[in-house]
This record gives sequence, C-alpha cells and structure tokens, in this order.
Amino acid sequence: MAPTTDSDSSTAEPLIRFRAARKEFASGAVAVEGLDLDVLPHELLALVGPSGCGKSTTLRMVNRLVEPSSGQVLLEGEDVMSVDAVALRRRIGYVIQHVGLFPHRTVTQNVTTVPRLLGWDKRRAAARVEELLDLVGLDPATYGRRYPHELSGGERQRVGVARALAVDPPVLLMDEPFGAVDPEGRRRLQVEFRRIQQTLGTTVMLVTHDIDEAVSLADRVVVLSRGGVVEQVADPVTLLARPANAFVEQFIGTGR
Ligand code: ADP
Ligand code: MG
Repeated sequence: MAPTTDSDSSTAEPLIRFRAARKEFASGAVAVEGLDLDVLPHELLALVGPSGCGKSTTLRMVNRLVEPSSGQVLLEGEDVMSVDAVALRRRIGYVIQHVGLFPHRTVTQNVTTVPRLLGWDKRRAAARVEELLDLVGLDPATYGRRYPHELSGGERQRVGVARALAVDPPVLLMDEPFGAVDPEGRRRLQVEFRRIQQTLGTTVMLVTHDIDEAVSLADRVVVLSRGGVVEQVADPVTLLARPANAFVEQFIGTGR
C-alpha cells in the first residue's frame, strides 16, 4: 500500500499541476494545447493516445527537457521554470524506452552515478545499490558487476528503474518504459513495477500507447488526442464503461 498520510488522496494537494500548458515547437508543430491536469500524490497516472499526440512532450515539460510556450507546470506548487533544472531533476526520476545505461560502466556504477555526484560515500552508495537491485528483482551479487551488454532488454529496464529511484525521487516520469521488453517479461515487469511504486509511494506519470497496460496498472488514465488535448481523465473502470466520446471509444477499442 502507498504510505498515505493524507487519508484521502482525492482531496490532497496535487503534486504536479498543468495549467493551460501549451507547447509549440519552432517548426510550428503544436504538440500540447491548453493542458489542464492534476497529478495527485502517490498515484500512478497513465497518459495514452495515438502516436504523435503529445504524450512525451507533456512528460518532458515536467522535468524541463521541454519548455512550455505558455501556461505553467507546477511541482509541489512551484513553477518548474523557476526551479534550478539540476535540482529539479534530482526530484524527478526519468525512465525511457531504451534506458541509455552508460555502456562502459557496470550496473553498480550506473546506479550510483547520481548518488556519487551528490557526494555519497562508497559505503552508503553500495548499500543503496544492493537495496535497489533487490527491489527490482536482480541479485546484487550476480548483476552488480555486469555491464549493460551482458543484460537482457528486461534486465536493462530494471536497472534503469533502479537508477531512476537511486535518490528516492518523489516523482517518476516513465516514457514507454516497457516497450522494448518481450511480451512475457513485460507483463512480469509491469506487475513488479506496480508493487514497487505502491511500496515506495512514488508518484508516477506513465506514458504508453498500450491501453491494456494503462488500464491494468494505473489509478487514473488520461486519454489525449492530437495536440495533447485531454479527451478524458478517468479511473480504468469508468474509462472502459463510459468512454466520454467517440474518440475515446475508438482509441480504447482499437488498442485492444
Ligand atoms: P507522442 O509521445 O505522443 O508520440 P510527442 O510528444 O513526441 O508525441 O510529439 C507531439 C508532436 O510534436 C508531434 O507532431 C511531433 O512531431 C512534435 N515534436 C515532438 N518533439 C519535437 C521537437 N523537438 N521539435 C519539433 N517537433 C516536435
Ligand atoms: Mg512519445
């Protein structure tokens, strides 16, 4: 269970808040338009929608890899654009489809990169690696000294998750994190990840084009149409039972 000190998370202050967020790239492409969305503490929120609809851009506005053209993105009430980007990214883990582990560093070195940069001593960092590898289901004694090329796709994603969690960020952004994992491994990883997320109480924004993944894992699902326009925000049961409009109905239908 998520450690909910706030007894009812539906009345809790949002941890992340989009207010009329808009992103128009220099090319003129409007990736996100008029986005209003609250992400509550400890929830796993899935963002779904067709390819090119603005999911990744939405996510990347949270950790400032993309700057909103107008509107705001707030983290714990603070406009992310007014926070130092490095400090911001320490509070926000980020996992993408191909996690981009450093190829010439071992698993242990990959996971401890940020803690070491923050000045953790070797012993503390080593203890943290053990804890994290256990958490993601990799035996530290076996995997700690391996290099990325000695891992399967699923194992690499596990290391990516461990690395993203290294300094205990309250927020995790995940962009198609299981997309490159074989179907069997993917299901296991999804279930294990959900357990980890609930244990730690991490707030997660999960981007996926897989409606089944969204529905089975998320507390709430956001369906976006082109230009990052919100078509529906609902818990999975409501989403499936009462699609808000023809777009949502078609999207959740075609994805299954
Ligand atoms: P999704 O993740 O849902 O597939 P994206 O957020 O990646 O969608 O992209 C949304 C739209 O913005 C697309 O039309 C895409 O081509 C455009 N886009 C994304 N990133 C950039 C960029 N860096 N420069 C210009 N256009 C971009
Ligand atoms: Mg994307």
